[in-house]
Amino acid sequence: MEDLRSLIRDIPDFPQPGVVFKDITPVLADKEAFARLVKAMADPFRDAGVNHVAGIEARGFTLAAPVALELGAGFVPVRKPGKLPYRTIRQEYALEYGTDSLEVHVDAITPGDRVLLVDDVIATGGTAQAAIKLLQGIGAEVVGFSVFIELVFLQGNEMLDGVPLHALVKYD
Ligand code: AMP
Repeated sequence: MEDLRSLIRDIPDFPQPGVVFKDITPVLADKEAFARLVKAMADPFRDAGVNHVAGIEARGFTLAAPVALELGAGFVPVRKPGKLPYRTIRQEYALEYGTDSLEVHVDAITPGDRVLLVDDVIATGGTAQAAIKLLQGIGAEVVGFSVFIELVFLQGNEMLDGVPLHALVKYD
């Protein structure tokens, strides 16, 4: 994983002062690194009977869709409010200042389906917790959360309500 780690670009003070943004676009742009990343994110879940892979808007989509193909599963978008055209359910979550929300289509999966959640980064875990609640709210069994990058010092893993986290590159 060290070669993938070396392609992650740190952008200090983006999008706001004090945040070091983990820019994964150099990984996505490198065809070999991108293919390796997608396989490595899918590997632990190959025998998990995954029916759908859910991705969190927007960077999560770039990884969730190819992971879904890799696992022979369908893709489900978890999106910001007002973006999905059909009937949705909504989950609010806390930000450092204020709140945000995510939505999913009510019929995105069949109740009982086994769903893998995918995103690029887990920081405080609030986004993932909201996505897990949404997926469980439409009847999913969330079998895991696969991320490229874990910011371990923010302890997001503790927000996942028992859903197993798999992170490829960790920052302590
Ligand atoms: P959180 O809810 O705090 O775990 O934040 C996770 C979401 O915010 C993910 O969808 C990430 O794409 C994004 N995110 C949070 N922190 C960073 C960071 N340092 N670099 C890149 N993306 C981040």
